[in-house]
Amino acid sequence: MTHPLNNTDWNTEWNTLFQADAGFQAINPASGEKLPGHFPEHTDAEISQAIEEAAHQFIQFATSSSRTRAELLRQIALELENDRSRIVARAALETALPEARLNGELGRTTGQLNFFATILDQGSWQRSVIDPANPKREPLPKPDLRLHYLSLGPVAVFGASNFPLAFSVAGGDTASALAAGCPVIVKAHPAHPGTSELAAAAIRRALKNCHLPDGLFALIQGSGHQQGQALVKHPQIKAVGFTGSLRGGRALYDLAVSRPEPIPFFGELGSVNPVFLLPDVLDSAPQRLANEFIASLTLGAGQFCTNPGLVLAVQSPALELFIDQASRTLHHQPAGTLLTPAISAGYRQQIQQLQQTPAMKLEAQATQSPGEHQVQPVLFSIKAEQWLALNTREEEVFGPAATLVICRDISQMKAIASQLQGQLTCTLHCSDTDLDLAHQLLQTLQFKAGRILFNGWPTGVEVSTAMIHGGPYPASTASQSTSVGGTAIERFLRPICLQNAPQALLPDSLLDPS
Ligand code: NAP
Repeated sequence: MTHPLNNTDWNTEWNTLFQADAGFQAINPASGEKLPGHFPEHTDAEISQAIEEAAHQFIQFATSSSRTRAELLRQIALELENDRSRIVARAALETALPEARLNGELGRTTGQLNFFATILDQGSWQRSVIDPANPKREPLPKPDLRLHYLSLGPVAVFGASNFPLAFSVAGGDTASALAAGCPVIVKAHPAHPGTSELAAAAIRRALKNCHLPDGLFALIQGSGHQQGQALVKHPQIKAVGFTGSLRGGRALYDLAVSRPEPIPFFGELGSVNPVFLLPDVLDSAPQRLANEFIASLTLGAGQFCTNPGLVLAVQSPALELFIDQASRTLHHQPAGTLLTPAISAGYRQQIQQLQQTPAMKLEAQATQSPGEHQVQPVLFSIKAEQWLALNTREEEVFGPAATLVICRDISQMKAIASQLQGQLTCTLHCSDTDLDLAHQLLQTLQFKAGRILFNGWPTGVEVSTAMIHGGPYPASTASQSTSVGGTAIERFLRPICLQNAPQALLPDSLLDPS
């Protein structure tokens, strides 16, 4: 059965792609102008119908073979690749991100889909355990116990504005949920509805190529919060994958856990990603570190959840050189266009508040005056004891802004490390002679972050079986899991134990080894 969200004929030309007679329009953040195409405000009834259809298809998909699901993921990657030029062109208009970056992000998106297909081929995701019976055990015989993992059910996915492909409709949450055998309902981010439609069309074509029901996937559109909230509250939704802000993630998390049937909410949220510059490495290379820092801070106009928003160092002549070089480099950075007018307005407001904070010193601001829709990169500094007194000290500024916290001595640096809240990343810059201090800080920081980097910069997240992209709250709402990397699939599975099951009823993965 074709439900109303899936009935568009996608074999049409670009100009007629987005032609609902009414609905909302995407905004070009570089000009503030509305882009062609109208997108529907889906109603509760339409959302409910899409979810019911997904629930109807669930068991068959959950019990399909790994090979079927791997083929689907590979087909989605292929269909995205086939439509690369249109997807990238539309995403560039909707986000103001450069085409080179979007081409790279599309490669990462297809790479993630193929990565999960390989994990399905290998079978390691099943983590099956066979614990044989022991009829002779005293005082009671031991039963035969076999453990494996089952899909949770239909999953709701929310993507962030800053990754319109890799953390969006066909991004990592969708790839890992489909890999786990869960139908997916995506709430498109209203900042890139056209890009979302094109990615959704690629998924629908892939389902068709694989002779799978189109109800296994649906895209919900809407310019406000109502559609997303309806999705999270629907009783047939059994888990949520969310990437976005702390405020949005927290609001939806609260809804998910206050339902009559609470459900797991995997929220990947923001972070200030503290970077510690240890004394000896800073002494040896202040200018190099300053240049690398500004390059990471301003990459993609600072719009990464792993942006280095907080740098900590002990006061010294080398730190003065670092500040001097960072300021000079920052002065020459171009003004940047942020992803939406609301994100730009939020950035300007936060910068103004920081400028009005008496203890904050404005170290540097890019000198190119920003256009109407642009913002300037900014670097602040503050003394550690004054920073510790701020209520908003670890609030993410989404954009190219960072604060340098100047510590009196090493013990103050260690005290700050111990007071940090949960982070996606923490970074230690250290030379061989800093290793003792690095070891002490690591003992603390490993309990604060999902990923610890050494002598690098946190922007850029490798998709790998060993990657963790998450961290203690407020970096994420589920610190035992990751949204990037091979184990992301585990978020959408639950363990089940079969006791004394006849061989004839066991799934292949739990049969006695032949
Ligand atoms: P956002 O405003 O939280 O939006 C994410 C999605 O959630 C959108 O679809 C949004 O729809 C929806 N949403 C937000 N609040 C909601 C509410 N109260 N009820 C229902 N739906 C709601 O995030 P963003 O501004 O696009 O993205 C930037 C943020 O994401 C930054 O903080 C960044 O650090 C973070 N991020 C994190 C990661 C990670 O992996 N940890 C990766 C990328 C980005 P509406 O637009 O309608 O509100």
